[in-house]
Amino acid sequence: MPAQTIAQTWLARIRELALPRPIRLMNVCGGHERSISFSGIRGALPPGIEIIPGPGCPVCVCPEEDLYEAIRLSLEEDVVLVAFGDMLRVPANVPKGEPRSLEQARAAGADVRPVASPQEAASIARAEPDKPVVFFVAGFETTTAPVAAMLAEGVPDNLLILLAARLTWPAVAMLLDSGEAAFDALIAPGHVATVMGPEEWSFVVERHRMPAAIAGFTPESLLAATYSVLRQTIEDRPFLDNCYPELVRPGGNPTARRWLSEVMQVEDANWRGIGIIPDSGFALRPAWQHLDARRVFPAPEDTRRRAGEMPPGCDCASVVLGRIFPDQCRLYGRACTPRNPIGPCMVSDEGACRIWWSSGLRE
Ligand code: SF4
Repeated sequence: MPAQTIAQTWLARIRELALPRPIRLMNVCGGHERSISFSGIRGALPPGIEIIPGPGCPVCVCPEEDLYEAIRLSLEEDVVLVAFGDMLRVPANVPKGEPRSLEQARAAGADVRPVASPQEAASIARAEPDKPVVFFVAGFETTTAPVAAMLAEGVPDNLLILLAARLTWPAVAMLLDSGEAAFDALIAPGHVATVMGPEEWSFVVERHRMPAAIAGFTPESLLAATYSVLRQTIEDRPFLDNCYPELVRPGGNPTARRWLSEVMQVEDANWRGIGIIPDSGFALRPAWQHLDARRVFPAPEDTRRRAGEMPPGCDCASVVLGRIFPDQCRLYGRACTPRNPIGPCMVSDEGACRIWWSSGLRE
């Protein structure tokens, strides 16, 4: 059946459901939010169903102190700083006169280069054997696993890692444990579940009796997941549904998980604008810490330590936590646009503010 017809079938089924009350669903994946926004799913759903973008953008939650550290390292003599392209424009609050982003550091003379993959970072290190090449990694499990694989398989001695990698489920657990979660059901991230296994999301159902479904990135898969959690709600029968069975298998990807557990350990981590979330960050295991850029280039005693702040006036943390929609920020579309972004949610391709603006959700 053509994809469009499948999507229309799911929509028709959703419209037939008799909802007992308005229902709010949260997605926690920039790819999901992109597909939902660009396909117009929100507008096609019947009244009473809202889909909230949640913590699905690793660039948006990268702590300001890590960003500041990356900018500082990029300005060290001979250092080449490489990062995924999104990170280059993310603004930090810095003292007047200092570069406030990696892009500005590059304009000031730093050797800052965008990369699209860990292999590209390793290639740059091989091509620049006399220079330290610092790979600034901000990402979730799906980004971190290939980095772990690269390290496990061997990298040039001059490739250092500045890690700001996070796990997705602890942010959702923190929201649910707080008792202030503003959603009734979860659309869980298919990409992450492909790597880590669907079992990571069982806590949503087992601890909180909340309907949950894992979705892929197509509108059909997202609508199937939407239908599933709505049915679960109506029947008061929550379970973790796998609406992405093509790729999501029990136990996830054992090779990727082995790389992750071999190279990385999990520890408490700071999320920009949110604070410390227990067991939510990846760090290099001791055997790999000689590649930790923070150890090779220790920060000066008087370095600035910020507690994960957002730029003044930016409500990105509330957007990330699903407490407001992007267009409820006072700066959205006025002072803050993709051309002149104030906060990280308008910079990153996975940021809800940028996705909403780019997809035409401008009022
Ligand atoms: Fe921050 Fe801009 Fe989004 Fe407002 S619109 S929350 S200022 S990124």
